[in-house]
Amino acid sequence: MAYKDYEIVIGLEVHSELKTKSKIYCSCTTEFGGDPNTHCCPICTGMPGTLPVLNGMVVEYAIKAGLATNCKIHQFSKQDRKNYFYPDLPKAYQTSQYDLPLCYEGYVDIETNGEEKRIGLTRIHIEEDAGKLIHEANGTFVDYNRCGVPLIEIVTEPDLRSPEEIRVFLSKLRSILLYADVSDCRMNEGSFRCDVNLSVRKKGATTLGTRTEMKNINSFNFAFKAAEYEAKRQIKLIESGGNVVQETRRWDEAKGVTISMRSKEEAHDYRYFPAPDLMPIVTSDEEIERIRQTIPELPDVRMKRYMENDGLSLYDSELLVASMKISDYFDQACKQTKNKKVLANIIISEAFSRMNEDEKELGEIPISAENLGKLAHLVDTNVISSSIAKKVFAIMWEHDDDPEIIVEKEGLKQISDDGALRQMAEEVIAKNDKVVQDYLSGKEAAIQALMGQMMARTKGKANPKMVIDLLKEILNTKK
Ligand code: ADP
Ligand code: MG
Ligand code: ZN
Repeated sequence: MAYKDYEIVIGLEVHSELKTKSKIYCSCTTEFGGDPNTHCCPICTGMPGTLPVLNGMVVEYAIKAGLATNCKIHQFSKQDRKNYFYPDLPKAYQTSQYDLPLCYEGYVDIETNGEEKRIGLTRIHIEEDAGKLIHEANGTFVDYNRCGVPLIEIVTEPDLRSPEEIRVFLSKLRSILLYADVSDCRMNEGSFRCDVNLSVRKKGATTLGTRTEMKNINSFNFAFKAAEYEAKRQIKLIESGGNVVQETRRWDEAKGVTISMRSKEEAHDYRYFPAPDLMPIVTSDEEIERIRQTIPELPDVRMKRYMENDGLSLYDSELLVASMKISDYFDQACKQTKNKKVLANIIISEAFSRMNEDEKELGEIPISAENLGKLAHLVDTNVISSSIAKKVFAIMWEHDDDPEIIVEKEGLKQISDDGALRQMAEEVIAKNDKVVQDYLSGKEAAIQALMGQMMARTKGKANPKMVIDLLKEILNTKK
């Protein structure tokens, strides 16, 4: 199969639940779970004669998401009815947005294989979620709890070129929405899910191939696997002389294949028309500016700051910005030390592994940022070595005390007294004839054994750099 001769083209439609307390057109709770049909009222179950009232926070969050992804805002926007009949939707239409979505023409920059790439966003619109069908042996039940839960739909341009790019894009987008604090993006609860539109074409071709759409994928991993499978299926089909049919397919995780659900021929004509019961959404410049001010510094900007100002590696910066809580914590701790690298190291190697062991969520560090910053400062100013810092860290994890006090109390100060260390080095050298001979005959690594003894004698408190320098200095006089 000439897989390499083809280019994969992907566009995504991402649905993300907004974190409002109440639904989009009524005051019912948006809380996840609950007994079936207990989070409902006549409005969200579409009873005749009821009137929807738009929740202002939905607009605010959607605009915030748009601004955080570089979108333009339609200051005159409207809502539309998308008509379809299916039991998960009691009104027989979904209120969505058609030709005047709140946000349009945005972008998200991603990086794959060390290359920057811009993924265009066609639009972001608001809409209501539908209910859930529960299939059981004695019939199918409907739970309307999710009806009217507010969503944003983020539609990308067909700019993605590989399953890997889907993964990177989704993870980037999710992180932006989390930073902007507009959605919890809980994939296991379906509050962040996507449709994957995919086509293939011969490399160099300028027109797009026929696409299929895989709906409601709620894991990065499934999106990756579904796209990988679907690309291969389409290429194989074309190579064997067939044609891709535009259709909706379903990803079957158990079988690891995509399965046809319905073809374009059966596709719905949604007969969109303006929602007659809802006013247009009009936003002023001031309102947009006010919302813009509520967006915190986004992960990209922080990454850049960490690498350019603080000298951190790309890898470390990525780990720190992966959670805004951690990144905020790091920034807070930075106020106590000039050495951001040492601080980042303590967070990444010590705190992350302890959080892992204790099965804590990322961000639940039981040490105050101030105290952790002070610990890094003690290392930076050579009061303690980094191996002693691990010891102090373990104590702080149990009791969040000022590390300076701990170091004092436990007698952990680094020994940097030249006279004392020199005397000890002379002794160690005198007592280890064999090791010394090894070293002098060219086995440089033998010095580690002497170093180990110095550390044992000082319970790890000797300044390691001084120890090595002293040992070398004394040994070299014996050459
Ligand atoms: P619809 O409204 O029928 O879902 P759209 O034209 O709005 O269709 O496109 C939906 C998504 O499909 C967008 O993300 C778009 O980028 C993507 N898309 C459109 N055409 C193609 C194609 N030929 N190959 C891959 N993705 C496509
Ligand atoms: Mg679609
Ligand atoms: Zn309701």
